[in-house]
Amino acid sequence: MKSTLEILQKHFDSSSIKTEKEDLENYGTDWTRYFNPNPVAIFFPKHIDEIQKIVLLANEHHFVLVPSGGRTGLSGAAVAKKEEVIVSFDKLNQIISYNELDQSITVEAGAITEEIQNFAKEKELLYPIDFASKGSSQIGGNIATNAGGVNVLKYGMTREWVLGMKVVTAKGEILEFNQGLIKNATGYDFRHLFIGSEGTLGFIVEATLKLTRAPKEKQVILFGIPNMEKVVKVMNTFRAELDLLAFEFFSDATVDYVMEHTHVGLPLAKRYPFYTIMEFESNNGKNTELVFSIYQKLYQKGWILDDIFGGDEQTIKHLWGYRENISSSISSFIPYKNDLSVRISNIHSFLSETEDIVKNNYPDFIVLWYGHIADGNLHLNILKPNKLSVKEFEEKCKKVNLLIFEIVKKYKGSISAEHGVGLLKKDYLEYSRSKEEIEYMKLIKNIFDPNNIMNRGKVFDT
Ligand SMILES: Cc1cc2nc3c(=O)[nH]c(=O)nc-3n(C[C@H](O)[C@H](O)[C@H](O)COP(=O)(O)OP(=O)(O)OC[C@H]3O[C@@H](n4cnc5c(N)ncnc54)[C@H](O)[C@@H]3O)c2cc1C
Repeated sequence: MKSTLEILQKHFDSSSIKTEKEDLENYGTDWTRYFNPNPVAIFFPKHIDEIQKIVLLANEHHFVLVPSGGRTGLSGAAVAKKEEVIVSFDKLNQIISYNELDQSITVEAGAITEEIQNFAKEKELLYPIDFASKGSSQIGGNIATNAGGVNVLKYGMTREWVLGMKVVTAKGEILEFNQGLIKNATGYDFRHLFIGSEGTLGFIVEATLKLTRAPKEKQVILFGIPNMEKVVKVMNTFRAELDLLAFEFFSDATVDYVMEHTHVGLPLAKRYPFYTIMEFESNNGKNTELVFSIYQKLYQKGWILDDIFGGDEQTIKHLWGYRENISSSISSFIPYKNDLSVRISNIHSFLSETEDIVKNNYPDFIVLWYGHIADGNLHLNILKPNKLSVKEFEEKCKKVNLLIFEIVKKYKGSISAEHGVGLLKKDYLEYSRSKEEIEYMKLIKNIFDPNNIMNRGKVFDT
């Protein structure tokens, strides 16, 4: 019987396959770093036909494929640890076409998120999905995880921006979904099934994305805030009065890591327990005036303790750095990440209950909170102490997970707001989805992928 590698070498050009140890380690993992990579090879298709061919070979010879984008995922969904073949989209990364009248672009799945944003900018438009890993993440990965980011408050998740999609299913069919239409009431919309499917149903090979008007004159204001209750109150007060582009928060402890990593000073003259960063469109100064008049009232009430305003590009970039650079600043501490969400109306009670658990169970660990508070999305990061091995640390975090996820369940929240389930969260899926729902997911997977060749063991076990 031929080995998987021999099959690949027989059917594809050697320049499309990599097997060096360093490449296998690099492509076999993502930002999670809790799993040991062990793929057989990495395949770099240059054409959709080659994807179809490898899918048919995988079905015939029973090997497993792992779709791989920018590998910035935070749930181990692109990890290959069981001798799978990684299919990388690094060489399928072109912007195929731009349609001015439709205000849409069609791109290959390996197109980098930031390059799509820059292309839209050249056309004086906006592709609004934005987050710190945009320089390496790919649109295929963004769609497969239904990525969110810092502008969800105004623009929604990736799902909102996908007008059409071309896929190679796990059975090897090439299908086109929705053809770039805005309206299409002709039955089940398979596009939405593939969005957020984490590579378990097939490969996304092309996407048609909607673009929109770019905001004029963005402005940013960073506040120092005394406690989480006030963070939520400040956010709701501003939200009630104007259309915000973003409202994010981070706890004081995060600032030390960003200062150390990016060589900046404190964001404000003094330290405060929490900070928020709020972005809005100036609207010829009207919104700026409104923001300052609301700010005065909240400052007098003691809900806001200090602020710094950014009206020019450089200051805006500097202020956003305190939020956007948190993940990269703490990454060397191999943080255990929880990406939780609840309804906005439940945030305050959810947080105080979760904080009690965190304080009682992680007395010696450094715990950092930050995230997309306006979406009800909180990132809870626990940093690994040097004295613990990754395995020991993970075991300790997993025990506390159960307590935290009970609260998530109580509030009907999500154990993964935007990072996906992958390997890291699959044991906890039942805290957010019913047994019946999970059973339906498995049935759907089986229809598209009867031989279980696509990203086997991710999201759930089959
Ligand atoms: C610093 C940092 C900040 C981040 N901030 C955010 C944030 O604010 N919001 C957010 O949502 N996420 C965030 N993330 C997580 C991550 O960037 C997103 O999940 C992103 O969408 C992953 O894209 P990727 O190309 O890196 O995908 P990968 O990590 O390579 O893959 C993710 C999943 O998609 C699948 N996949 C990849 N390409 C395809 C394809 N062509 N067809 C089918 N399946 C495919 C993979 O198999 C895997 O299941 C952040 C990550 C980092 C490191």
